[in-house]
Amino acid sequence: MPESALADIENSQPQQDKINLLGLSVSRLGDFFEQLGEKPFRATQVVKWIHQMGERDFDQMTNLSKALREKLNETAEVRLPEVVSCQDSSDGTRKWLIRVEGGSCIEMVYIPEKDRGTLCVSSQIGCALDCSFCATGKQGFNRDLSAAEIIGQLWIAADSFDQFDTKAPRRVTNVVMMGMGEPLMNFDNVVDAMSLMLEDNAYGLSKRRVTLSTAGVVPALDKLADVTDVSLAISLHAPNDKLRNELVPINRKYSLQQFIDSAKNYIDKMPDNRRKATVEYTLMDQVNDRSVHARELAVLLKDLPCKINLIPFNPFPGTEYRRVTNTALDRFRDILQGEGYTVTVRTTRGDDIAAACGQLAGEVNDRTKRQQRYKSKLASAEETPVKILG
Ligand code: SAH
Repeated sequence: MPESALADIENSQPQQDKINLLGLSVSRLGDFFEQLGEKPFRATQVVKWIHQMGERDFDQMTNLSKALREKLNETAEVRLPEVVSCQDSSDGTRKWLIRVEGGSCIEMVYIPEKDRGTLCVSSQIGCALDCSFCATGKQGFNRDLSAAEIIGQLWIAADSFDQFDTKAPRRVTNVVMMGMGEPLMNFDNVVDAMSLMLEDNAYGLSKRRVTLSTAGVVPALDKLADVTDVSLAISLHAPNDKLRNELVPINRKYSLQQFIDSAKNYIDKMPDNRRKATVEYTLMDQVNDRSVHARELAVLLKDLPCKINLIPFNPFPGTEYRRVTNTALDRFRDILQGEGYTVTVRTTRGDDIAAACGQLAGEVNDRTKRQQRYKSKLASAEETPVKILG
């Protein structure tokens, strides 16, 4: 082949993608700078620019030499997901629709409270676990989010609250990995993104204020304490395997007892012995809200340092479940409190903009065809709701 033809082929190749620095933890960024022949301390400088000052333009990073800025412009970029819309609820809750590469959209929610502001962040596009009462599960699964797409959500929220201006009050004080997806199914990217949340030179959140919530991917939970010490929430929703197998299908693989043992090991490894797991329990009318369930739960959790968060079920279009009644909710809480547990009830926030737990659905380009199956199942379903009593 003549040389000129070879050059033509090379010229027609798409340009190598630039590396996105947004999702790189300090240590990964340190490796990147070493490869560029630079000192690793550049990583701290650049992390500060991106995550503390909100700067994406290398030319504005004035403590880097001109030569380095040029090198960065050639090889790297700070690429954010795209905000499609941002809605405010009457109670101050804010919801963003965010488009990621490939065209799917994820949702993110900010919940202001008296003494804190919590950002609920997504870890995957859709979810593969298919919990029977969760809108995200019904959307099917597309792919894991990259670390950049996960930390990019916090960047977007910080930017929208002018938090990069150091004089502005800090609005996002807490992050919960409770948006779309199962964080432990996207282990490495979630761990990298959380390391930036905790990093003093980035967002500097306390480990108590970053919470990973899981439905029970036990082998991944077993490894978690080796790489992080964030707070842990476990999504139980049922006090026995029979009922949980129906509500949370991953329970058929890893039983309740395996899940609780693994959570206990995580808590036990925390250096601070006052740490407790949060047990999440979504209450559905006549499914898992009976006194017998509360008593069984009290026994099940007796060896786990924990507090219990009851979540009244949030309905979404097409679901067969109903919200717990106030009487059943009070009774459930009283039984657990009577057994000595600390119990909180998660107030429903932002439901006028479908931003409440389990209502986040985004626009998932579904690779599992689950949406299709769900819709045809709904179309042929009988009028009477299905009840599952464990
Ligand atoms: N996959 C993770 C995090 C996502 S969901 C997990 O399962 O923990 C965050 C919490 O909201 C979970 O406890 C989840 O079970 C709960 N949830 C899901 N759908 C809900 C709904 N429709 N109403 C109330 N809570 C719901």
